[in-house]
Parts: sequence; structure tokens; C-alpha cells
Amino acid sequence: MKILIVDDEANNRLLLSQLLASHGDCDLAVNGREAVEAFELSLADGEPYDLICLDIMMPEMDGQAALKKIRALEEEFEISGDTIIFMTTALDTEEHVVKAFFHGHCTDYLAKPISRESLEEKLNQYNLIAG
Ligand SMILES: [Mg+2]
Repeated sequence: MKILIVDDEANNRLLLSQLLASHGDCDLAVNGREAVEAFELSLADGEPYDLICLDIMMPEMDGQAALKKIRALEEEFEISGDTIIFMTTALDTEEHVVKAFFHGHCTDYLAKPISRESLEEKLNQYNLIAG
């Protein structure tokens, strides 16, 4: 599957790309603006992402704003069904997660530090594991 990993911290991008490498091709973005650009490009190319892991706290454009724009692009491109988006968040940003759920329509969230177990559980839950 096609995966977009969005995080302003290199360590987090590296961890997620290592954990997800066996599940698909991972593209990386360092802020919300880059994420929205990558997402729009994928729609224009007719090769949308199956999964987006989206950090909430980022400079330039944060995860909340990016989530909103991504959902708007889905409507603009008339994509059937929402792209699966996991917000990734530190435990102390619960309020942001709630906002993402109810206002931005993210699919789910992953609390940092992200473990292989918690990630695999979510992949399973949303039928993202092939075979
Ligand atoms: Mg961050």
C-alpha cells in the first residue's frame, strides 16, 4: 500500500518508516503544507494514499490544519470514502486529538512513543495488512 508519514521530527519519521516499511511504500513530509502538497499530487496522479500518519504538532502548518485541507481535497477530487488517517500525538495533547476526531474527521490516533504492537493493532483494525 501507499503510505504518507508526516512529522516534523526526523526521529519520528525514521521510526514510523521502519515500522511501516514491510507494509508498503512510505513517502515522508516534514510539515502539514508538504503533506497537503503530497496528498494533492497523489490524487492528481490517480494514486491516492492508503494510509496517512499525521503528526499534530508541527511548524508552518500543523496536523489539524492539514487534516482539514486533506478532507477538503477528497471532496474536490470526489474520492469515494475517506483516506485512513492516524493522527500521531504525544499523550499530553489529548484535547487536540478530540478536536481532530470531531472537527477534522481523522480515522484514529496513535499515542507516542509509537510501538510496533500498537501500530500493527491499528493496521489490523482498519484492514490495512495484506494477506
Ligand atoms: Mg511534532
